[in-house]
Amino acid sequence: MSKLVVVGTVAFDAIETPFGKTDKILGGAATFIGLAAAHFNTEVGLVSVVGGDFPENYLTMLEDRGMNIEGIEIVSEGKTFFWSGKYHNDMNTRDTLATELNVLADFNPVVPEHFKNANVVMLGNLHPAVQLGVIEQTKDADLHILDTMNFWMDSALDQLKEVIAKVDVITINDEEARQLSREYSLVTAAKKIHEMGPKFVVIKKGEHGALLFHNDEIFFAPALPLEEVFDPTGAGDTFAGGFAGFLAASNDYSFENMKRAIIYGSNFASFAVEKFGTERMQTVTNDEISKRLEQFKALTKFEILS
Ligand code: AMP
Repeated sequence: MSKLVVVGTVAFDAIETPFGKTDKILGGAATFIGLAAAHFNTEVGLVSVVGGDFPENYLTMLEDRGMNIEGIEIVSEGKTFFWSGKYHNDMNTRDTLATELNVLADFNPVVPEHFKNANVVMLGNLHPAVQLGVIEQTKDADLHILDTMNFWMDSALDQLKEVIAKVDVITINDEEARQLSREYSLVTAAKKIHEMGPKFVVIKKGEHGALLFHNDEIFFAPALPLEEVFDPTGAGDTFAGGFAGFLAASNDYSFENMKRAIIYGSNFASFAVEKFGTERMQTVTNDEISKRLEQFKALTKFEILS
């Protein structure tokens, strides 16, 4: 079976949306990525760090959902990464209220021996220096996929550029693509980001879907129009998890297969937003995923009679 390494935050989140507010709940990029990727026929190994305040039952839950958590370091005297955000009424934009790095500040990732020969490496959102550390331990991987966010562009741009130069695929949201490239047009932004290194550029546009760029080719996947969107937190990570999990399981990294991968990513993300935090992703079944995939097909299929 193929192997997928996921590095990213395993965190506490406090979220406010127009529909309600939570205290500290389970969050983190690696958590959402892993919950999606674990649905595929690939071994998923998480690499992250948590503090002594992190509940044991959260770790058990990740294991029960099929993830290998050997690479999650527990710093018993430290505190877990904490992020808090508040969504605006349209839920396409949010303000970050707090980012407390805590144990993440001194994190030195160690990829477990068993995962050093992983086929695919998903570098979830965290400090680019940590992402670099993981790339160095997984040099033989077929595919390195990078996700990042404006926080790291603002605080560690040079290191981030070093990571970008070493990866095959980058997934980034539209606002961040504009910030990174200093271009407004997403087509031009993708071109500039290509020039920084990645052969494939995926630009996520929230409820407006995702674009895949490869040389001069472009593919678009819609987001499923949903009746209820409760909390968009983690949608981008869940998208990345579905994308990476599908690619790792299919062992085909062509543009054609990447198109399918972004449909899978969008499919998983559509579940993540239905409840607060990771709640929906903890319960979603393969049957529900397959049914929704049919909805995706129906949404975009059309014929033009000539
Ligand atoms: P998303 O909504 O896909 O951007 O992901 C939100 C998740 O990312 C939350 O669960 C947070 O814990 C995590 N997160 C927020 N800010 C950061 C950051 N600066 N670095 C790493 N993870 C973060």
